[in-house]
Amino acid sequence: MLVNPDTNLVHQAARELQELHELEHNQAGTPVNKHHRFPQSCLKLLRGIEGNLRCADCDATNPCWATVTYGAMLCIDCSGSHRQLGVQISVVRSISMDSWSYCEVLSMLEGGNKQLNDFFMRHGLPSPHMSDDDDSIMAGRNRYKTNAAMFYRDNLSQHIGRVHQRGLYKGRDHYRKVKKARRKIKKETTKSTSHSNRTSTCAVECTLSPSTSEPQLSVLADKNI
Ligand SMILES: [Zn+2]
Repeated sequence: MLVNPDTNLVHQAARELQELHELEHNQAGTPVNKHHRFPQSCLKLLRGIEGNLRCADCDATNPCWATVTYGAMLCIDCSGSHRQLGVQISVVRSISMDSWSYCEVLSMLEGGNKQLNDFFMRHGLPSPHMSDDDDSIMAGRNRYKTNAAMFYRDNLSQHIGRVHQRGLYKGRDHYRKVKKARRKIKKETTKSTSHSNRTSTCAVECTLSPSTSEPQLSVLADKNI
């Protein structure tokens, strides 16, 4: 069962994120890029996100690599598979060895393995570890090349932008509560409108990802990113 992160831990993580952001800002335009390790309190938050103690693709325990694009944790073998997909599909980082940017850390804190795999399951794209046959394993890896995956990464990226705009980090629960409240208000205001108006409302949200069509509506209905 998922335990809500300690408020102090969220505050510490927020300070670390702010420091990281300021360091990047101060270094902008300078030729020397300093190595920024994944901040410690952020790492504790990351480990506490549901599903993150197992590789998102093969279910191996204690994954130490990440696909920043999807905010998910991977084992070293699966990180190799993701590298082969190319950086336009999946950007891979080592949690302990690589340098991390503010936005990359934020992506990890707002992503999560269970969230990603639940999303893929809803779109009939199960994790490769769900089956042992070669075709299923290949299909599991190729799920990152689908329109659904493109939708997910675009939405996560846009979500990160919105979280950044709201200033000091307040923890993933906060942004989900805000989103839920907004959705409730929207639902109430559209309740009495015609079917054509409801379709139009969805279309406005879906313009966030113009290159995909079908998956968007179900994801918006699922409300997980
Ligand atoms: Zn793995």
